[in-house]
Amino acid sequence: MSRVYNFSAGPAVLPEEVLKEAAEEMLDYKGSGQSVMEMSHRSKVYDQIIKEAEADLRELMNIPDNYKVLFLQGGASQFFAEVPMNMMKNKKAGYILTGQWAKKAFAEAKIYGEAVELASSADKTFSYIPDCSDLPITDDMDYVYICENNTIYGTKFKKLPNTKGKDLVADVSSCFLSEPVDVSKYAVIYGGVQKNVGPAGCVIAIIREDLITDDVLPGTPTMLKWKTQADADSLYNTPPCYTIYICGKVFKWLKKNGGLQAMKELNEKKARILYDFLDESNLFMGTVVKEDRSLMNVPFVCNIEDADKKAEIEAKFIKEATEAGFVNLKGHRSVGGMRASIYNAMPIEGVEKLVEFMKKFEKENA
Ligand SMILES: *Cc1c(COP(=O)(O)O)cnc(C)c1O
Repeated sequence: MSRVYNFSAGPAVLPEEVLKEAAEEMLDYKGSGQSVMEMSHRSKVYDQIIKEAEADLRELMNIPDNYKVLFLQGGASQFFAEVPMNMMKNKKAGYILTGQWAKKAFAEAKIYGEAVELASSADKTFSYIPDCSDLPITDDMDYVYICENNTIYGTKFKKLPNTKGKDLVADVSSCFLSEPVDVSKYAVIYGGVQKNVGPAGCVIAIIREDLITDDVLPGTPTMLKWKTQADADSLYNTPPCYTIYICGKVFKWLKKNGGLQAMKELNEKKARILYDFLDESNLFMGTVVKEDRSLMNVPFVCNIEDADKKAEIEAKFIKEATEAGFVNLKGHRSVGGMRASIYNAMPIEGVEKLVEFMKKFEKENA
């Protein structure tokens, strides 16, 4: 067996230890004689799995008691609609546009009410985070929305926007559990787990309790009403059982490895290795402003003026990297170039070896 270094933006690398444990439990989960894939979500065994997952997540993120944790389906993309459906009492909300995922959430909100662009970094291909200290937020807005880490463009909010007292909703899909957060600063934190937490199929939403009510937009489907899910402890219908089980294992892995503060330090160390190289390289360069760089997603290009030559060298790099066991480095189609996603489960050796490989490639292609 040989495993690659997987730099995919999502679905993405998972801790090897977790995969091995899951393999060991595949045929017989803890003496139950069944795989977790095969058991009833109403069984005692499964109840313990989902309850423990929630408890471990609460501990890791230090989630206050007045927040509910929901395990949902439909991906982050469906949650784009759930936010206005459950929160637009005045049918008006402010959106900060820092990339494609924020834009998609913004477009979705417009179906349900007035979504206002508060700030945007579209003028420079989303390569920075706009100044959010004094946004045109009005009293009648129900919430302010951000995508905290921009998976495609590789920027991250290092400081939360001044929401002028309005509830903050954050899509944290690609920075979930990458560092400690103060949950109480948000009204809603949510993310698809397939980036930094687990296999695809589940969205985890952490929602302040007072936002979970029957007062939703007319026409909101039962399943998309947060109250339905909260009242049933995420078991209104069959949840993504196996995905939640693996997420639970990742939570335990995080706890064992020192929790989110330790993860932050490791992530900073990993990112520094790659960014330092990009800054000193003559061939490769990062694409976003230094102060807004993401710790998780690192887009970069070849610093070559001639567009054809640039495309040729980038394609050569991706091909040779793949052959050397560094996979999924091709950049998102909207940015081009390369992107290395270095989530929690990417070991530091993976980043060190990638940089070694890039140095060698640079020498050979000088
Ligand atoms: C991947 C991603 C999404 C979309 O997630 P789906 O689960 O595929 O709907 C939304 N927001 C961010 C920040 C993402 O990285």
